[in-house]
Amino acid sequence: MKYEAVIGLETHIQVRTRSKMFCSCANRFGDEPNTNVCPVCMGYPGVLPSPNREAIRATVRAGLLTGCEIARFSKFDRKSYFYPDMPKNYQISQYDLPFCSRGAIRLSGTGFSGAPLPEKAIGITRIHLEEDVAKLTHFGGASGVDYNRAGVPLMEVVSEPDMRSADEAYAYLTCLKEIMQYGGIGDCDMEKGQMRCDVNISLRPAGATEFGTKIELKNLNSFRAVHRAIDYEIWRQADLLDRGVVLQQETRGWNDDSGESYLMRTKESAHDYRYFPDPDLMPVVFSDADIEEFRRELPEMPEAKRARYERDFGLTAYDAGVLTADRELAQWFECAAEKAKQPKLVANWVISELLAALSAEKTTLEQCRVKPGALAELTDLIASGAISGKIGKEVFAVMLAEGRSPKSIVEERGLSQVSDAGAIVQLVSEAIEANPRQVGEYRAGNAKILQYLVGQVMKLSRGRANPQLVVAELKKQLDG
Ligand code: ADP
Ligand code: ZN
Ligand code: MG
Repeated sequence: MKYEAVIGLETHIQVRTRSKMFCSCANRFGDEPNTNVCPVCMGYPGVLPSPNREAIRATVRAGLLTGCEIARFSKFDRKSYFYPDMPKNYQISQYDLPFCSRGAIRLSGTGFSGAPLPEKAIGITRIHLEEDVAKLTHFGGASGVDYNRAGVPLMEVVSEPDMRSADEAYAYLTCLKEIMQYGGIGDCDMEKGQMRCDVNISLRPAGATEFGTKIELKNLNSFRAVHRAIDYEIWRQADLLDRGVVLQQETRGWNDDSGESYLMRTKESAHDYRYFPDPDLMPVVFSDADIEEFRRELPEMPEAKRARYERDFGLTAYDAGVLTADRELAQWFECAAEKAKQPKLVANWVISELLAALSAEKTTLEQCRVKPGALAELTDLIASGAISGKIGKEVFAVMLAEGRSPKSIVEERGLSQVSDAGAIVQLVSEAIEANPRQVGEYRAGNAKILQYLVGQVMKLSRGRANPQLVVAELKKQLDG
C-alpha cells in the first residue's frame, strides 16, 4: 500500500436519563411522535432551560472511564443554525470548555476481520454534552418532524486522528460502546439512533508525517457500515491521488445499499455557527472533592472484571471474556457464582448450556426461566455427586421449560445418582451376564472393551449409576 489512512471519529451517544437535558419531558424512544414536548424543548420565547444533573454526572463518568481530565470550570454555549430539527434555531452545546478532555481508549481484542489488533491507545480529544435535535423523516416529497428527540441529552466523543484502518475504527467503536454500557451512561443501540458516528478520513504517502486532506463521512448507522465506508473511502481516495487529483475538504454521505459514498457539501458551504455562551445557563464548577466522589462511584469495568474472574474463579481468559462481553450476562453469572460451591462449574454451564439455550430459543436472559440461584443449585448437585453431568443436562432442559428448582425435578423424577454399593453390584452382574462375548474379549486382553461395558451398566441404570463406582465394580468382578 502506497498510502497510509488517518482516521478520527466523532461519535454521538445519547445519555440514558429519565428526562431531557434542559426540561422535564421524558427521554424515551418509541413514543407517539411529538408527545414528549414542552415549551422549553419546543423553543418558545421566554422559557428557561435547567440542566439535567444526571446527564452531567454521566458525562463526567464517561470522561473518567476514558482517562480524561475533568474541567473544574465548564459552560454551555449556543451553536446557531437554522433548520427544522431545532426549534430554538440554536442548539445548546459546549464549545471551548467541554466537561472532559485529553483521554484515551485502549484497543483490545481482534478487529472486525478477526485479525489481531496492535496494542494501541486511541486518544480522546474531548467529550462534551449537548442536546439532541428532532428526528426528520422524509416521505414522498414531504417531511415529518418528531420533536420527542429534541432536547435529549447527547454526548459527543471526539477522537484524535489515531486510527489507521477500518479494523481499528471498528475496534475503537466496540470498546467505546462497551465502556458506555458498563458505565451506565447510554445503551448505544444504533438502530434506535442512540449512537451515531461520523468518520474523518485522509490518506498520506506511507512514511509521511503530515496529514492529508480530510473527508468527513456522515450517515453511518452501524459499525459494519463504518468498516465498509472506510475501506471504500480508502480505495476511492487512493485512486484519485494516483491520478494526481488534489483532494478538497468535503463532507460525504454513505449509501449502505450501493456501498458508495457521495458528495454532500464542500468546505465553501461550511457553516458559521457563531458560538457564544448561553446567558440562561450558569457555568458548571467542580471541586477536587466533587471529582474524587465521582471517581469513587465508578463501576467495575470489563477489563477489571475479567482479571477478577480469572483470579478468583480460576477461569480461562477466553471464558472470562465471554462472560464479560455483556454487562447483564456478567451480572447474571456473578449472582449465580456467589451462591454456588464451584463458580468455575457455573461458568462452564453458563457458557456451554445457558448461552446455547438462549440462542436456540431466541430469548433473552431476562425472559429465561432459569434463574441464577437455580443454576447454582444444579451445579452444586453435580459437584456433590448427587447427579451426573449427563443427568444435569436432562434436569436443565426441564428447568428451561418449567422454571422449577433442580432439586424438585431430581426428586420427582428419581434422577439422583445411584451410589449404593449393593445396587451397583447388582447392575454390574446383570451387564456381565448379558454381554458374554465382550466379557470374553476383555478377559482375552482387550482393555478398551471396558468402556463398552460401563456404557451397558449406565444404560441399565438409565444414566443414574455413579460412573466411578461402576468402573471399580466392573474391574473387581471381571479381574477377580
Ligand atoms: P473540524 O474543525 O473540521 O471539525 P477537527 O480538527 O475538530 O476538525 O477534527 C474533527 C475530527 O477529525 C476529529 O475526530 C479528528 O481526529 C479528525 N481529523 C482531523 N484531521 C484529520 C485528518 N487530516 N485526517 C483524518 N482525520 C482527521
Ligand atoms: Zn420539554
Ligand atoms: Mg470539530
